[in-house]
Amino acid sequence: MPLLDEKLSPILSEIVRRNAGDEEFHQAAQEVLESLGSVVARHPQYLDKALIQRLCEPERQIIFRVPWVDDAGEVRINRGFRVQFNSALGPYKGGLRFHPSVNIGIIKFLGFEQTFKNALSGLPIGGGKGGSDFNPRGRSDDEIMRFCQSFMTELYRHLGEYTDVPAGDIGVGGREIGFLFGQYKRLTNRYEAGAMTGKGLVYGGSRARKEATGYGATYFVNSMLATKSLSFDGRRVVVSGSGNVAIYAMEKIAEFGGKIVACSDSAGYVVDEDGVDLQLVKEIKEVRRERIEEYVRLKGSRARFIQGGSIWDVPCDVAMPSATQNELTGKDAATLVRNGVVAVGEGANMPCTPEAVRAFQDAGILFGPGKAANAGGVATSALEMQQNASRDSWTFDQTEARLAAIMSDIHDRCAETADDYGAPGNYVLGANIASFVRIAEAMDALGVI
Ligand code: GLU
Repeated sequence: MPLLDEKLSPILSEIVRRNAGDEEFHQAAQEVLESLGSVVARHPQYLDKALIQRLCEPERQIIFRVPWVDDAGEVRINRGFRVQFNSALGPYKGGLRFHPSVNIGIIKFLGFEQTFKNALSGLPIGGGKGGSDFNPRGRSDDEIMRFCQSFMTELYRHLGEYTDVPAGDIGVGGREIGFLFGQYKRLTNRYEAGAMTGKGLVYGGSRARKEATGYGATYFVNSMLATKSLSFDGRRVVVSGSGNVAIYAMEKIAEFGGKIVACSDSAGYVVDEDGVDLQLVKEIKEVRRERIEEYVRLKGSRARFIQGGSIWDVPCDVAMPSATQNELTGKDAATLVRNGVVAVGEGANMPCTPEAVRAFQDAGILFGPGKAANAGGVATSALEMQQNASRDSWTFDQTEARLAAIMSDIHDRCAETADDYGAPGNYVLGANIASFVRIAEAMDALGVI
């Protein structure tokens, strides 16, 4: 990775000072700024008018109280967040995360990443992110509904199809989007389908949206492999996580002939040398809403569950971290490299630590950063917005074909930009520069706002 340019170093110091304690946000900003040295050398105008500083400061940050009543009649309080990061390219767009780890720093980092990811997709969407420290685990459907209704009762005033369009993320799937959209509709008295994405098919959702992030990440890794005349066919693949991204990455990998040998959740990981049984994972996670440990009990065979530990100890040719931020460390990366990994694609947002990314790049391994590799989800959200705007509904094949074309474009844009800036094969640099230039051009044209 290039070191931080001396003109950009004071900008990073200011970001760190202004966002004290927001470690993940510092990490994400540093990674982007480290990529921009050659851009500002070629286009010094981007150092003018505090453009980079403005791009690193969210346009608006909303924090609110979310009171709700649990099944025992107790009043509970959570905190809600929405960071409207950048709207130079379109309405704020990005998911909502419900997880106890959520705080303003996490949402800021996710909103920052989202802004770049959305720009890279080539679609007219700005960046934002939101969520709550609410823990949905073990909550009944009624509790989830009451929480979602209370959350939306505050958030709705900040949303709109031309303003800010949320979707799901960790802890927010189809069920939650339904409750959130229902409350938005009720409060606004408008059937504004384009105000949220990830909706169910019967009330304005898009086919292939659920599959899109995982499918898209697999398409992206497939394109990276193709640059070295390789493919998924017959390769061992480890996908961390077992949520929406992981499940549909596994589905597409299997379709491409890959063999998935391990997946996980926050309690541990499952290894199945016979190839992970995806229908069973879907049954456990999507229907029963249980822990992945159940896999071994239900499947038997050669499957093993390893509590704690690191899924990256399982030897594989392709690794797709698809759980959460900073889940794959420098030590894990060294293990993967030692075991002969050839490609790594981030299904989650920033799952690899900076040390891990450096280890992969130093070893010459294909590495696809999340803001490129997992952009298929939000890109398909933009396709859902298109369908809502034209009151249309596309077929699965039509939608997936658009997704595949978008992922191929993103791959090529990253690769060509990396070539253009003298760093062939560096998808991190390519993604950061290509998205930065697009946002910077728009911001520059719009004046000092
Ligand atoms: N949460 C997803 C992401 O990280 C999707 C966001 C969206 O569809 O708006 O990109």
